[in-house]
Amino acid sequence: MPNFCLNTNQQLNGDYEVHDMSCSYLPAIYNREALGWHSSCHDAVTEAKRRHPAWRRINGCAYCSPACHTH
Ligand SMILES: [Zn+2]
Repeated sequence: MPNFCLNTNQQLNGDYEVHDMSCSYLPAIYNREALGWHSSCHDAVTEAKRRHPAWRRINGCAYCSPACHTH
């Protein structure tokens, strides 16, 4: 089961991205919020949205979590 983190640094397009900790494109360590272990990126995104209801755009990284990536 992968371990996920949330990039707390908003992207230029307004998104906050969820990454698998094995991703090659992880944010800087001070911009990582640990989301814990989840069976899928969908569960990790749900957890991130639960914690940050005001952050309207949270999705998966295009590289490590393409199933959860939206354009
Ligand atoms: Zn990633």
